[in-house]
Amino acid sequence: MPGARLIEFMRRERARATGVIWIARAVIRVFSEDATRWFPLETGGVLLGYEDADTVVVRALVAAGPKARHAKWGFEPDARWQEREIARHYAESARIDGYVGEIHTHPRGGLRPSSRDRSTARRIARYEPARSPRPLMAIIGAGCGAWRMAAWRYERDRFTALDVRVYDEGESE
Ligand SMILES: [Zn+2]
Repeated sequence: MPGARLIEFMRRERARATGVIWIARAVIRVFSEDATRWFPLETGGVLLGYEDADTVVVRALVAAGPKARHAKWGFEPDARWQEREIARHYAESARIDGYVGEIHTHPRGGLRPSSRDRSTARRIARYEPARSPRPLMAIIGAGCGAWRMAAWRYERDRFTALDVRVYDEGESE
């Protein structure tokens, strides 16, 4: 399976054994375009891929959806549409790409989770254990004409930064 080989590759490459998120360059490109389109309103999406221990590989993105609501402080996804898209990706990727986390924008800049983000993460951790007891939250913040990205893991009521690394699709095959 290509995924297992990529994880082996990453094990050798990275210095630490924990806390790495590998994200496909195409996912960042598509989400940055979406972020720019909604600016100065927030938008977000769901990250799809797979994980092994503390390594997450993000291979696809499901956007906020056609009925999502966007505001300056927060957004509300079109959850039903997202669920269908997540199921479709899972089937079409031969059950490799599942839910691994959330991504959203901070049009005003900051890459740190807000208090609102903390409540969201707490809710996901407590009430959706089947999905993610240690929610992953990626944030892209606007600044100096470009979007920057950070990723956080929520556990025991605190966020820990993950090492964000970008890969090109060819490397996973
Ligand atoms: Zn936020």
